[in-house]
Amino acid sequence: MAIPESQFSELVTQATTRFRVASWRECQAAIARRDKRPHLALTFDDGCADGFDVAWPILRRHGVTATFCLTTSFIDGNQPLWWEVVAAQHDAAPSVPLLRSGEASYGPEAEAEIHRLKSLPAAEWRRIVDEARRKVETGSELSPALSWEQVRTMADEGAEILAHGHSHAILTKCDDHELTAELEQCRAEIESHIGERIEGLAYPNGDCDRRVVTAAAKAGYRFGLSMDPGYARRGGDPYRVPRIPVEAATYEVDGEFCWDLFEAEISGVFDVLFMRRLRAAHG
Ligand SMILES: [Zn+2]
Repeated sequence: MAIPESQFSELVTQATTRFRVASWRECQAAIARRDKRPHLALTFDDGCADGFDVAWPILRRHGVTATFCLTTSFIDGNQPLWWEVVAAQHDAAPSVPLLRSGEASYGPEAEAEIHRLKSLPAAEWRRIVDEARRKVETGSELSPALSWEQVRTMADEGAEILAHGHSHAILTKCDDHELTAELEQCRAEIESHIGERIEGLAYPNGDCDRRVVTAAAKAGYRFGLSMDPGYARRGGDPYRVPRIPVEAATYEVDGEFCWDLFEAEISGVFDVLFMRRLRAAHG
């Protein structure tokens, strides 16, 4: 999610009048018991401080909860988010202000480099990113992280906490050893801080394949959130739960958040229209 506070506030206001806004766990349970009411789970990746400072108070005012997926090496400000370090090297501040929980977009040069790094084997990616971390100046525009205390507060107040990798390495690019370490370390660290079992993860960048899913299940995860577009339905693969990224630019009309556009997106109507067009084009 990368949108300004005012637009997020509008999104939650609209969402709560039309949906049961709930954690993913609750949505999953609703699907299992064939609850026909429309449910919506809002998820926040990475663990940026604005999840607590901006999003959580708005959600609490509406009496709803959300799901926060944590990259554990980032929490408590231990290690900045790697793509922000890369973007800072290119002097690229995010083009979207505030609520940066989730990846924002940068200038074309920085975006190209981030994209290239995501495609590298994790060991090579780690070497380049560690090097960039040494070079980046303090005071660069890097997102502050949630503290463990804030995570505990949100968990105590009803937020769902999930894993999002230890270092945000792209899991499909990790060798078996790195993959297991990313999955296990992340879960163990969150569990030690909040004293609750962590049942699921959001794959960094949404990237997963059969090997990642098998490793996640072996590491004790029972579900995984992807970035495949679409909506969750009964009989869907619990390890490939679809999600729709919320970017201000996608739903902004005349500088304001356009709920109708967002609702149309999450209704799946665009997928239907796209498939219909595709079928027509191919006879
Ligand atoms: Zn992420």
